[in-house]
Amino acid sequence: MKNLKNLLSLRSLRARIFIIILLVGIVPSVLMRYAILNSYEERTVQIRIATVQNQLMIVGNHLLSNHYFSSTKTNENVISAELQMISDLYEGRVVIVDSSLKVVKDTYGISEGKIMISEEVIRGLQGESMSHYDREHGYIEMTTPIVDSGSQAEGETIIAGVMVTSISNDAIVSTIEALNRQAMILQNLMLVGILAFAIILSTILTRPFNRITEAINEVKAGYSNKTIDVPDYAETVHIVEAFNQLLERMKALDASRQEFVANVSHELKTPMTSVKVLADSLLAQEDAPAELYREFMEDIVSEIDRENRIITDLLALVRLENKVQELNIVSLNINDLTELILKRLRPIARKRDVELVFESMRTVIAEVDEVKLTLIMTNLVENAIKYNKEHGWVKVELNADHQYFTFTVSDSGLGIPEDSLPHIYERFYRVDKSHSRDIGGTGLGLAIARSAVLLHRGSVTVSSVEGEGSSFTVKIPLNYIPETTA
Ligand code: ADP
Repeated sequence: MKNLKNLLSLRSLRARIFIIILLVGIVPSVLMRYAILNSYEERTVQIRIATVQNQLMIVGNHLLSNHYFSSTKTNENVISAELQMISDLYEGRVVIVDSSLKVVKDTYGISEGKIMISEEVIRGLQGESMSHYDREHGYIEMTTPIVDSGSQAEGETIIAGVMVTSISNDAIVSTIEALNRQAMILQNLMLVGILAFAIILSTILTRPFNRITEAINEVKAGYSNKTIDVPDYAETVHIVEAFNQLLERMKALDASRQEFVANVSHELKTPMTSVKVLADSLLAQEDAPAELYREFMEDIVSEIDRENRIITDLLALVRLENKVQELNIVSLNINDLTELILKRLRPIARKRDVELVFESMRTVIAEVDEVKLTLIMTNLVENAIKYNKEHGWVKVELNADHQYFTFTVSDSGLGIPEDSLPHIYERFYRVDKSHSRDIGGTGLGLAIARSAVLLHRGSVTVSSVEGEGSSFTVKIPLNYIPETTA
């Protein structure tokens, strides 16, 4: 049903191929039939006119040699027989008019003795020979002057009379009709052949496209997860390649989503397991002292805090990546913001005896989202404090050119091993899982920071030497560039 509708609609490739083949096959054959029949008719009429006129000229000569237009005419019966033969042979009538416009002979015998004035006769008497084919009424008319060139002085001719002849073209018409009938039969046979050819060819030519649709539908319905292969045309290869790339991307997305869900479950389960182990061991002791309860409860609270942190970070990340939150861009003094963030983080640094230094080359005013930029800076500085040595230092530098401002956080900490560098922005990735967990890391901080930097159309780069320290540099445009819809 759908196929039929497709075929009837001109938007279908199959219908177009079908129509093109049909037109290319049929139109020339119809045109050829008309052209051949017409030229055949024209040629036959011309030949007939020439033959009849030839014979009439011979008769004309006979008329002259037998002095037909004078009273001393001879062999009148022979001439009448000749004229009768012509009119019988060509189913026509021959009328002879003399120079005084009088009809001297009519093979039908009805006009003899009458005067005949017509344009043809007058022009015939002036020496003009004419023919006219009246297709509609089915006859050919011709006027043949009877030229006497022998009896006069040299160079002069006398027109003794005119023969007005009309002959039937029935024979020609019936031949053409017979030919036409044959041509029609042939053409109908060809039509059937071309129709069958058009149906078969249009079906075969569009089959690869149907195969692509079928294969895509199979993937869509979930029967198949394989890449498609339809190598029939260059076009189908391109479509299929594009589809396969899309499929690969979807598979990769699906895999990363599954991995993320697995990671989230694992990360959320870890504190729960600890809480359960702590609670179970308390319950297992019949009369545990109050101090033990207190100690275990403190551990349980810290596990719950950890669970909370993971959930908060996850929510922040998901929101950033889904772009649910619109950016709230304001013009901001970045120096002031940095000072504020460092002031907030100073107690943590002091606890770990890490020195916090801020160096600024100039005052930087930029268009940013304050909350998200705070998130970026806090995460980087917090990491620099967390993954530092005792008595270490963290240096924050702020600089700008005419287009970007750069914000660099360097530390004297543990550094990041080279093979871990490409992974540090991945969600839940931690170089040293147990160490990170001990100091309260969720493995989401850098993923969050990177997402927020990208929202500002900026970049974040890192250089690090294991055991010596790391340096993270964030580069963000001074003027916010909104996303273009194009
Ligand atoms: P976390 O919450 O565990 O700190 P992040 O996404 O912020 O997670 O960082 C990922 C990992 O990268 C960390 O676990 C740590 O191993 C490493 N890392 C990040 N910043 C630094 C740094 N300044 N020095 C050394 N290692 C770092």
